[in-house]
Amino acid sequence: MTRRYIAQFDSAELPRIDTDFLVIGSGNAGLRAAIEANQHGDVLLITKTAMNDKSTCYSQNRMVMAGDDGLVSHVEDTFEAGRGLCNEAAVETMIAESVQQVSELTRCAPPLDKQDSILPNLLKKQERVRVVEHAFIVDLMTHEGKCYGGIAFINNTLHCIFAKATILASGGLGHIYQCTSNPAVATGDGFAAAWRAGCQMMDMEFIQFHPTTLFLMDLSYCLVSGRVREEGGILINARGERFMAKYHKLEELAPCDVISHAIVNEMELTGAPCVYLDLTDLQPNLIQNRFSRIYQLCYQFGIDITSDVIPVRAGAHFMIGGVSTNLNAETSLRGLFACGEVACTSVHGADCIAGNTFFECVVFGARAGRAAIRYVKTVESNSHKHIRICSDDGPPHKTPHGVGIEAAKEFIQQMMWQRAGVVRHAEDLEATHSQLRELTPNGNWYSVETFEFQNMCDVAALIVEAALLRAESRGMHYRADFPKQNDAKWKKHIILQRGRKPKLML
Ligand SMILES: Cc1cc2nc3c(=O)[nH]c(=O)nc-3n(C[C@H](O)[C@H](O)[C@H](O)COP(=O)(O)OP(=O)(O)OC[C@H]3O[C@@H](n4cnc5c(N)ncnc54)[C@H](O)[C@@H]3O)c2cc1C
Repeated sequence: MTRRYIAQFDSAELPRIDTDFLVIGSGNAGLRAAIEANQHGDVLLITKTAMNDKSTCYSQNRMVMAGDDGLVSHVEDTFEAGRGLCNEAAVETMIAESVQQVSELTRCAPPLDKQDSILPNLLKKQERVRVVEHAFIVDLMTHEGKCYGGIAFINNTLHCIFAKATILASGGLGHIYQCTSNPAVATGDGFAAAWRAGCQMMDMEFIQFHPTTLFLMDLSYCLVSGRVREEGGILINARGERFMAKYHKLEELAPCDVISHAIVNEMELTGAPCVYLDLTDLQPNLIQNRFSRIYQLCYQFGIDITSDVIPVRAGAHFMIGGVSTNLNAETSLRGLFACGEVACTSVHGADCIAGNTFFECVVFGARAGRAAIRYVKTVESNSHKHIRICSDDGPPHKTPHGVGIEAAKEFIQQMMWQRAGVVRHAEDLEATHSQLRELTPNGNWYSVETFEFQNMCDVAALIVEAALLRAESRGMHYRADFPKQNDAKWKKHIILQRGRKPKLML
């Protein structure tokens, strides 16, 4: 069994911070939760690096809601993508409340506020929210089945943050994989900390791989949206051959999972590190106006996409599974709430459609804030003041020939991409599982890099375990040895919990 904590500490001896609410993460989910919680008490919002280093900043979503017809088809599309695993109540709640959330947020914002800055600007007006940047949550503190806040690494020192309620909004885990659209902060820390604290983790095998992330000099955070293919952009391999007809009758408009498989396959067949999107048959005006962001970005790298092809490849984009929560963002651990990408209400089922992640963040972020307020009202005001929490989990013994931390992280990323990525197989997954257990690199054990490494190991093991259990293909989980969806056996969720046998849930 993995260790309960990844650091050794005694809360009585560490610098201590007390707050009513601890919010972990400054993305849309964390900001929305903090704004809500501010109505009832002091909020400490902490974030791993700078306030703007988060997936939320790269989303092209806008706070626009479709009319009634649009909403009906949005719900239908959500269920279709979820391949039988969407939680109906969660989808209905998300769609119904997103209308209200968007109108409330846009109403509160001054007319000149850019949409991306509405939540950050609203946060600045909250008098009881204190933001601490460059604070890394190492673990969640628990005592007798309740969460009491977290251990944070701030200025190279461990701190105990005691909170009456803790809201986890720490985003995704794309950097578990070699190819990803995610910013570097997405190393899965929140998933790992929640797992070690004993939370139920749901559907960890479902990761959305975006078919066309931009492949330019290791530039992550950038994708070429599916709209480019809808307008007539075509995919060609490194030999200049158009290939999608081999894989699906809808060619470039096939479902994303099919396109991702096709791209990975073509990369293997040609031995090239990417394929290409070709827009050169489209009108230059249309490209420059409708896809101005990608046009300008590529231009900076010397690629004029009106006449040159765009290098792209599939990459880990969005974590569908996560810390299991109910509709009030309550986790299985009392005092801990989760929202945004780190949480799993199964609103997405086995795949996620564009736009839903924004709605998920604002709707369940607000719900997390409200549920945390209700919880805090039931907690005695001084209940956490006299609790002492200790961990004896020191660094593991160093191996004489161990590799360095950065090399070990790269090893995980490569192994996960090759064996637990777009295409999976039992043999590969089993081999990955045992290799993950053996990794013990050398390095400074009390550093952000090492904490991240340990989190990556824990989260990778969860993904591999769930992917191995689900002996079928569904949505974003593709098993080459079980290529069909098997509803009779697998129209179920997989729940993993530390120290317990995996559970299947309808
Ligand atoms: C390139 C890109 C484009 C996207 N486009 C779209 C789109 O068009 N439409 C759409 O709906 N969705 C899109 N998404 C997905 C969407 O942006 C995310 O799912 C969503 O923003 C997640 O929000 P969040 O608040 O849960 O997490 P994030 O915005 O990722 O925020 C996570 C926060 O947690 C903090 N954190 C992480 N670990 C720790 C730790 N150990 N200690 C302290 N703090 C920590 C981070 O610093 C960060 O502040 C896109 C994502 C990417 C990467």
